[in-house]
Amino acid sequence: MDITRLAPSPTGALHLGNARTFLINWLLARKQHWRVVLRVEDLDGPRIKPGSEAGLLEDLRWLGLDWDQGPTRQSDRGDAYLAALSQLTDAGLAYPCVCTRKEIELAASAPHADDGSSIYPGTCRGRFATIAAARADTGREPAIRFRIPDDSSSIITWTDRFAGECTIDARTLGDFVIAKADGTAAYQLAVVVDDAAAGVTQVVRGNDLIESTPRQVLLYRALNLANQLPHYGHAPLVVGADGRRLAKRHGDSRLNYYRSQGVPPGRILALLGRWLGINDVTDHATIADLLTLFKPESLPTEPIVFTQQDDDWLKSR
Ligand code: GLU
Repeated sequence: MDITRLAPSPTGALHLGNARTFLINWLLARKQHWRVVLRVEDLDGPRIKPGSEAGLLEDLRWLGLDWDQGPTRQSDRGDAYLAALSQLTDAGLAYPCVCTRKEIELAASAPHADDGSSIYPGTCRGRFATIAAARADTGREPAIRFRIPDDSSSIITWTDRFAGECTIDARTLGDFVIAKADGTAAYQLAVVVDDAAAGVTQVVRGNDLIESTPRQVLLYRALNLANQLPHYGHAPLVVGADGRRLAKRHGDSRLNYYRSQGVPPGRILALLGRWLGINDVTDHATIADLLTLFKPESLPTEPIVFTQQDDDWLKSR
Protein backbone atom coordinates (compact mmCIF):
# COMPACT_ATOMS: atom_id res chain seq x y z
CA MET A 1 0.00 0.00 0.00
CA ASP A 2 1.19 3.52 -0.74
CA ILE A 3 1.87 5.79 2.19
CA THR A 4 1.96 9.59 2.12
CA ARG A 5 2.36 12.27 4.73
CA LEU A 6 0.95 15.67 5.54
CA ALA A 7 3.94 17.52 6.98
CA PRO A 8 2.98 20.98 8.26
CA SER A 9 5.58 23.23 9.87
CA PRO A 10 4.11 25.01 12.90
CA THR A 11 5.62 28.33 11.86
CA GLY A 12 2.29 30.13 11.61
CA ALA A 13 -1.31 29.57 10.62
CA LEU A 14 -2.40 27.75 7.49
CA HIS A 15 -3.11 30.07 4.55
CA LEU A 16 -4.93 29.36 1.31
CA GLY A 17 -1.74 28.32 -0.48
CA ASN A 18 -0.63 25.70 2.06
CA ALA A 19 -4.24 24.57 2.41
CA ARG A 20 -4.41 23.92 -1.32
CA THR A 21 -1.22 21.83 -1.27
CA PHE A 22 -2.48 19.76 1.67
CA LEU A 23 -5.81 19.32 -0.06
CA ILE A 24 -4.15 18.04 -3.25
CA ASN A 25 -2.10 15.59 -1.20
CA TRP A 26 -5.14 14.43 0.76
CA LEU A 27 -7.40 14.06 -2.31
CA LEU A 28 -4.77 12.05 -4.17
CA ALA A 29 -4.39 9.86 -1.11
CA ARG A 30 -8.07 9.25 -0.47
CA LYS A 31 -8.81 8.63 -4.15
CA GLN A 32 -6.12 5.99 -4.37
CA HIS A 33 -6.34 4.51 -0.88
CA TRP A 34 -2.97 5.66 0.31
CA ARG A 35 -2.34 5.69 4.02
CA VAL A 36 -1.95 9.24 5.42
CA VAL A 37 0.55 10.02 8.18
CA LEU A 38 0.50 13.41 9.86
CA ARG A 39 3.95 14.68 10.81
CA VAL A 40 4.60 17.99 12.51
CA GLU A 41 7.92 19.47 11.33
CA ASP A 42 8.81 21.41 14.44
CA LEU A 43 12.61 21.48 14.30
CA ASP A 44 13.21 24.92 12.87
CA GLY A 45 13.74 26.52 16.30
CA PRO A 46 13.34 30.27 15.87
CA ARG A 47 10.60 29.97 13.24
CA ILE A 48 8.36 27.69 15.30
CA LYS A 49 5.45 29.61 16.83
CA PRO A 50 4.19 28.22 20.12
CA GLY A 51 0.56 27.16 19.87
CA SER A 52 0.54 27.10 16.09
CA GLU A 53 0.53 23.28 15.92
CA ALA A 54 -2.90 23.09 17.55
CA GLY A 55 -4.16 25.82 15.22
CA LEU A 56 -2.82 24.05 12.13
CA LEU A 57 -4.43 20.75 13.03
CA GLU A 58 -7.68 22.53 13.78
CA ASP A 59 -7.56 24.25 10.37
CA LEU A 60 -6.95 20.94 8.60
CA ARG A 61 -9.85 19.30 10.45
CA TRP A 62 -12.10 22.33 9.83
CA LEU A 63 -11.57 21.80 6.10
CA GLY A 64 -12.45 18.13 6.53
CA LEU A 65 -9.02 16.58 6.11
CA ASP A 66 -8.15 13.58 8.26
CA TRP A 67 -5.25 11.18 8.68
CA ASP A 68 -4.69 7.57 9.65
CA GLN A 69 -1.65 7.93 11.85
CA GLY A 70 -0.02 10.63 13.98
CA PRO A 71 0.55 13.40 14.67
CA THR A 72 4.19 12.52 15.14
CA ARG A 73 6.65 15.30 15.92
CA GLN A 74 10.17 15.73 14.62
CA SER A 75 11.18 17.14 17.99
CA ASP A 76 10.66 13.61 19.43
CA ARG A 77 12.94 11.94 16.88
CA GLY A 78 16.37 13.28 17.85
CA ASP A 79 17.88 9.82 18.41
CA ALA A 80 16.97 8.62 14.92
CA TYR A 81 18.51 11.74 13.36
CA LEU A 82 21.65 11.36 15.46
CA ALA A 83 22.08 7.76 14.31
CA ALA A 84 21.79 8.79 10.66
CA LEU A 85 24.18 11.65 11.23
CA SER A 86 26.82 9.35 12.74
CA GLN A 87 26.38 6.95 9.86
CA LEU A 88 27.11 9.76 7.39
CA THR A 89 30.04 11.31 9.25
CA ASP A 90 31.60 7.88 9.97
CA ALA A 91 31.45 7.08 6.27
CA GLY A 92 33.08 10.40 5.38
CA LEU A 93 29.96 11.53 3.56
CA ALA A 94 29.46 14.56 5.77
CA TYR A 95 31.82 16.99 7.47
CA PRO A 96 31.90 19.69 10.15
CA CYS A 97 31.58 23.28 8.99
CA VAL A 98 32.27 26.33 11.15
CA CYS A 99 31.45 29.00 8.57
CA THR A 100 29.06 31.73 9.57
CA ARG A 101 26.40 32.97 7.18
CA LYS A 102 28.36 36.19 6.70
CA GLU A 103 31.55 34.29 5.82
CA ILE A 104 29.67 32.19 3.29
CA GLU A 105 28.20 35.30 1.70
CA LEU A 106 31.64 36.86 1.38
CA ALA A 107 33.29 33.69 0.05
CA ALA A 108 30.56 32.68 -2.34
CA SER A 109 31.28 33.57 -5.92
CA ALA A 110 28.37 31.39 -6.97
CA PRO A 111 25.00 33.00 -7.57
CA HIS A 112 22.38 33.05 -4.88
CA ALA A 113 20.04 30.15 -4.43
CA ASP A 114 16.31 30.58 -5.01
CA ASP A 115 15.67 31.38 -1.38
CA GLY A 116 18.23 34.20 -1.39
CA SER A 117 20.87 32.26 0.54
CA SER A 118 24.38 31.90 -0.87
CA ILE A 119 25.55 28.62 -2.33
CA TYR A 120 28.14 27.10 -0.04
CA PRO A 121 31.58 27.23 -1.69
CA GLY A 122 32.99 24.23 0.21
CA THR A 123 35.35 26.12 2.53
CA CYS A 124 35.34 23.47 5.28
CA ARG A 125 35.46 20.42 2.99
CA GLY A 126 38.44 18.35 4.11
CA ARG A 127 39.48 21.05 6.59
CA PHE A 128 39.03 19.13 9.88
CA ALA A 129 39.73 15.49 10.67
CA THR A 130 36.85 15.23 13.13
CA ILE A 131 34.03 17.23 14.65
CA ALA A 132 36.06 17.51 17.85
CA ALA A 133 38.99 18.91 15.87
CA ALA A 134 36.76 21.52 14.24
CA ARG A 135 35.59 22.59 17.69
CA ALA A 136 39.08 22.60 19.19
CA ASP A 137 40.74 24.43 16.28
CA THR A 138 38.19 27.20 15.96
CA GLY A 139 36.39 27.43 19.28
CA ARG A 140 33.17 27.28 17.33
CA GLU A 141 30.41 24.71 17.49
CA PRO A 142 30.28 23.22 13.98
CA ALA A 143 27.27 22.49 11.81
CA ILE A 144 27.45 19.31 9.69
CA ARG A 145 27.22 19.45 5.90
CA PHE A 146 26.53 16.69 3.43
CA ARG A 147 29.28 16.31 0.84
CA ILE A 148 27.74 16.32 -2.60
CA PRO A 149 29.59 13.79 -4.78
CA ASP A 150 31.89 15.45 -7.31
CA ASP A 151 30.91 13.16 -10.15
CA SER A 152 27.90 12.70 -12.39
CA SER A 153 26.13 10.62 -9.74
CA SER A 154 25.00 14.02 -8.46
CA ILE A 155 22.87 14.57 -11.55
CA ILE A 156 19.47 13.54 -10.25
CA THR A 157 16.56 12.77 -12.55
CA TRP A 158 13.04 11.81 -11.59
CA THR A 159 9.57 11.77 -13.06
CA ASP A 160 7.54 14.24 -11.08
CA ARG A 161 3.79 13.78 -10.72
CA PHE A 162 3.21 17.44 -11.60
CA ALA A 163 6.45 18.86 -12.98
CA GLY A 164 7.13 15.96 -15.38
CA GLU A 165 10.68 14.89 -16.22
CA CYS A 166 13.08 16.71 -13.91
CA THR A 167 16.87 16.84 -13.88
CA ILE A 168 18.86 18.79 -11.33
CA ASP A 169 22.61 18.60 -10.88
CA ALA A 170 23.03 18.72 -7.10
CA ARG A 171 26.59 20.03 -7.54
CA THR A 172 25.05 23.38 -8.48
CA LEU A 173 23.32 23.54 -5.10
CA GLY A 174 26.39 23.23 -2.87
CA ASP A 175 27.04 21.05 0.17
CA PHE A 176 24.04 21.48 2.44
CA VAL A 177 23.53 21.50 6.20
CA ILE A 178 22.17 18.30 7.73
CA ALA A 179 22.69 19.27 11.37
CA LYS A 180 22.81 22.75 12.82
CA ALA A 181 25.48 24.02 15.20
CA ASP A 182 23.08 23.52 18.12
CA GLY A 183 23.04 19.79 17.32
CA THR A 184 19.50 19.57 15.94
CA ALA A 185 18.91 17.87 12.61
CA ALA A 186 18.22 20.13 9.65
CA TYR A 187 15.16 19.77 7.43
CA GLN A 188 16.74 17.66 4.64
CA LEU A 189 18.03 14.96 6.96
CA ALA A 190 14.97 14.85 9.21
CA VAL A 191 12.62 14.46 6.23
CA VAL A 192 14.56 11.57 4.73
CA VAL A 193 14.96 9.74 8.04
CA ASP A 194 11.28 10.19 8.84
CA ASP A 195 9.94 9.37 5.39
CA ALA A 196 12.03 6.21 5.25
CA ALA A 197 11.06 5.14 8.78
CA ALA A 198 7.37 5.65 8.05
CA GLY A 199 7.63 3.81 4.73
CA VAL A 200 6.47 6.88 2.80
CA THR A 201 6.15 6.08 -0.90
CA GLN A 202 4.43 9.27 -2.11
CA VAL A 203 5.67 12.79 -1.41
CA VAL A 204 3.37 15.59 -2.51
CA ARG A 205 4.48 19.14 -1.69
CA GLY A 206 4.82 22.65 -3.05
CA ASN A 207 7.02 23.51 -5.97
CA ASP A 208 9.14 25.70 -3.69
CA LEU A 209 10.73 22.48 -2.40
CA ILE A 210 11.73 21.08 -5.78
CA GLU A 211 15.44 21.67 -5.14
CA SER A 212 15.17 19.63 -1.96
CA THR A 213 14.48 16.52 -4.01
CA PRO A 214 17.99 16.00 -5.45
CA ARG A 215 19.44 16.61 -1.97
CA GLN A 216 17.06 14.12 -0.43
CA VAL A 217 17.70 11.51 -3.13
CA LEU A 218 21.43 11.77 -2.37
CA LEU A 219 20.71 11.29 1.33
CA TYR A 220 18.61 8.18 0.62
CA ARG A 221 21.54 6.75 -1.29
CA ALA A 222 24.13 7.74 1.31
CA LEU A 223 22.04 6.11 4.05
CA ASN A 224 21.66 2.93 1.98
CA LEU A 225 17.95 3.57 1.61
CA ALA A 226 17.86 3.98 -2.16
CA ASN A 227 15.41 1.07 -2.43
CA GLN A 228 12.91 3.16 -0.45
CA LEU A 229 12.94 6.28 -2.63
CA PRO A 230 9.43 7.74 -2.80
CA HIS A 231 7.63 9.05 -5.85
CA TYR A 232 7.68 12.86 -5.88
CA GLY A 233 5.08 15.43 -6.87
CA HIS A 234 5.71 19.18 -6.64
CA ALA A 235 2.54 21.17 -7.14
CA PRO A 236 2.60 24.73 -8.49
CA LEU A 237 2.13 27.31 -5.75
CA VAL A 238 -0.53 29.91 -5.17
CA VAL A 239 0.87 33.39 -5.89
CA GLY A 240 -0.37 36.93 -5.37
CA ALA A 241 -1.30 39.31 -8.19
CA ASP A 242 2.40 40.31 -8.33
CA GLY A 243 3.39 36.73 -9.18
CA ARG A 244 5.17 36.19 -5.87
CA ARG A 245 4.43 33.32 -3.53
CA LEU A 246 1.38 33.96 -1.33
CA ALA A 247 2.48 35.78 1.83
CA LYS A 248 1.43 38.46 4.28
CA ARG A 249 2.05 41.25 1.78
CA HIS A 250 -0.94 39.95 -0.21
CA GLY A 251 -3.28 40.53 2.74
CA ASP A 252 -4.55 38.06 5.26
CA SER A 253 -5.30 34.77 3.53
CA ARG A 254 -5.13 32.61 6.63
CA LEU A 255 -7.92 30.15 7.17
CA ASN A 256 -8.44 31.30 10.76
CA TYR A 257 -8.94 34.85 9.51
CA TYR A 258 -11.75 33.77 7.17
CA ARG A 259 -13.21 31.64 9.93
CA SER A 260 -13.24 34.69 12.22
CA GLN A 261 -15.12 36.56 9.48
CA GLY A 262 -17.81 33.89 9.52
CA VAL A 263 -16.75 32.29 6.23
CA PRO A 264 -17.81 28.61 6.29
CA PRO A 265 -15.36 25.87 5.23
CA GLY A 266 -17.56 25.06 2.23
CA ARG A 267 -16.80 28.46 0.75
CA ILE A 268 -13.05 27.94 1.11
CA LEU A 269 -13.37 24.44 -0.35
CA ALA A 270 -15.27 25.87 -3.32
CA LEU A 271 -12.45 28.29 -4.09
CA LEU A 272 -9.79 25.64 -3.52
CA GLY A 273 -11.82 23.28 -5.71
CA ARG A 274 -11.68 25.76 -8.59
CA TRP A 275 -7.97 26.08 -7.98
CA LEU A 276 -7.76 22.32 -8.45
CA GLY A 277 -9.27 22.63 -11.90
CA ILE A 278 -12.78 21.53 -10.85
CA ASN A 279 -15.10 23.73 -12.90
CA ASP A 280 -18.46 22.36 -11.84
CA VAL A 281 -17.94 22.94 -8.13
CA THR A 282 -20.82 24.72 -6.34
CA ASP A 283 -20.42 27.90 -4.26
CA HIS A 284 -20.41 25.84 -1.07
CA ALA A 285 -18.59 22.56 -1.53
CA THR A 286 -18.05 19.69 0.84
CA ILE A 287 -14.91 17.67 1.04
CA ALA A 288 -16.96 14.72 -0.27
CA ASP A 289 -17.93 16.80 -3.37
CA LEU A 290 -14.27 17.50 -4.06
CA LEU A 291 -13.35 13.87 -3.61
CA THR A 292 -15.95 12.93 -6.22
CA LEU A 293 -15.13 15.70 -8.69
CA PHE A 294 -11.33 15.89 -8.38
CA LYS A 295 -9.37 14.61 -11.34
CA PRO A 296 -5.60 14.65 -10.80
CA GLU A 297 -5.05 15.14 -14.54
CA SER A 298 -7.09 18.38 -14.48
CA LEU A 299 -4.84 20.08 -11.93
CA PRO A 300 -3.60 23.37 -13.39
CA THR A 301 0.06 23.18 -14.30
CA GLU A 302 0.62 26.93 -13.86
CA PRO A 303 0.72 28.82 -10.54
CA ILE A 304 -2.68 29.91 -9.23
CA VAL A 305 -3.20 33.65 -8.74
CA PHE A 306 -5.06 34.73 -5.60
CA THR A 307 -6.82 38.03 -6.33
CA GLN A 308 -8.79 40.65 -4.42
CA GLN A 309 -11.90 39.29 -6.17
CA ASP A 310 -11.25 35.87 -4.64
CA ASP A 311 -11.02 37.47 -1.22
CA ASP A 312 -14.25 39.46 -1.80
CA TRP A 313 -15.99 36.34 -3.08
CA LEU A 314 -15.00 34.30 -0.03
CA LYS A 315 -16.51 36.95 2.24
CA SER A 316 -19.67 37.50 0.18
CA ARG A 317 -22.82 35.69 1.28
N1 GLU B 1 7.24 21.08 6.38
C1 GLU B 1 7.38 21.50 5.03
C2 GLU B 1 6.47 22.67 4.76
O1 GLU B 1 5.54 22.91 5.51
C3 GLU B 1 7.05 20.39 4.05
C4 GLU B 1 8.19 19.51 3.85
C5 GLU B 1 7.97 18.40 2.85
O2 GLU B 1 6.83 18.16 2.44
O3 GLU B 1 8.95 17.76 2.53
O4 GLU B 1 6.70 23.39 3.81
